[in-house]
Amino acid sequence: MSYRPSFLAPTGHTSSSCGYCHSSSSTSVCTGAWAYELTAPHYQTLVDRGWRRSGQYCYRPALTETCCPALTIRCDVGQFVASKSQKKVIGKWRKFLAEGKGGPTKAEEEEGKEEGMVVDAEEGAEDIPKLSSTRTNKKTKPPSTSPQQSMSSASHSQPSALATLLTAAETSQPDHPSSHTFHTTLTPATYDETTYALYALYQTTIHGDAPSKLSPKRYTQFLVDSPLPKASPPDQPFGTFHHKYYVDDKLIAFAVLDILPSCLSSVYFVYDPAYDKLSLGTLSALKEIVLAESLAKDIPTLRYYYMGYYIHTCPKMRYKAQYSPSDLLCPATYTWIPTDRAIPILEAEKVAPLAELGDEEAESLADSCTSTDDSTLIISKGAQRLRAVEQAALASVSDRDVRALRAFEEGALVPFGRTETYQDTKEDVKELYALLGEELIQDVILVT
Ligand SMILES: [Zn+2]
Repeated sequence: MSYRPSFLAPTGHTSSSCGYCHSSSSTSVCTGAWAYELTAPHYQTLVDRGWRRSGQYCYRPALTETCCPALTIRCDVGQFVASKSQKKVIGKWRKFLAEGKGGPTKAEEEEGKEEGMVVDAEEGAEDIPKLSSTRTNKKTKPPSTSPQQSMSSASHSQPSALATLLTAAETSQPDHPSSHTFHTTLTPATYDETTYALYALYQTTIHGDAPSKLSPKRYTQFLVDSPLPKASPPDQPFGTFHHKYYVDDKLIAFAVLDILPSCLSSVYFVYDPAYDKLSLGTLSALKEIVLAESLAKDIPTLRYYYMGYYIHTCPKMRYKAQYSPSDLLCPATYTWIPTDRAIPILEAEKVAPLAELGDEEAESLADSCTSTDDSTLIISKGAQRLRAVEQAALASVSDRDVRALRAFEEGALVPFGRTETYQDTKEDVKELYALLGEELIQDVILVT
């Protein structure tokens, strides 16, 4: 139990059009909560129960209702082995830095950056990953330091094969001056104009956003604001960071990353479209895996790199399974299942429990399968089993449990049952209770 509470305002179910299957109607359904403040351990628990965040809005797909079910995917950084095509991306990167090959082109419409990083289309969706901390110095340019670099300077374990490969790509040879310098910085997320300008270029070029849709305010709400406490490494290493990439001292890309107790979590990645040919999406994921390794030296509980959601129904989003080995989160049991074992299940069922269900879940399943709920007739067997587990979790939360939760109303802490909004919002709160679980909900103060 943590002693510090988190502050959440449930927002219930919302639906919108879908950026993955490009549905024109509101087929993408999720449950959400506005997070005023969230401790890092609490957010870790949330992501380990299938949640993500966009700015201060936390959401979880309603898996049995939504068009493109999204499951949390993680990569064990200590076990990661780069594939041939991932090594090729590092090779291209090395050539660019050393020889200037494959560099900037005229910004052009790019599509589906293959296995690179595809960007989840909607605002609010996560994007893919990126990260790291090295630099190529043409001559003697001092490296810029980042909080993480100084944090890990005291440790010395063997670098992984991936780290060695990336370092070699980004380090100039003594007798061979590099064509370009490169360095990264990792700093707590804040607004600045250069970063905003790159974001605006990326959104309009890559996502086709209308410039009128963009503003510093919206950018800040999306990629700067965070419910996590302000990070201040090394004493307070957790929080939301911007990992910035500089070529010849010019910002060419940045990742938004959350550093949490057991993972580095990718939030979004933005890059200069002129560097499209360098597969920066893939490169950034590889760099983030190395960053997670490096963070783990100071945060021994940090073992994983979270890539956001894996969406099997969307072929463009399957590239995340290429960062191997990885696990998918079972939405029924909240246990992790190796991706290669989970994929055959997802081939057969759009969504389903991925783990074997225990006796209790199986029992509730038997009950619900005899029900005559119309909706169960039209959804798949897997979704039906998942829905039964969700309904059992919901049924286990009593009105009394919900009334006893703590709420913040007009400057005072009161039992939720005594707030003015109780009647109107109790169903949303009950669902939040079931989705967060008994232990976490007791640490939450509801904002009404
Ligand atoms: Zn969809």
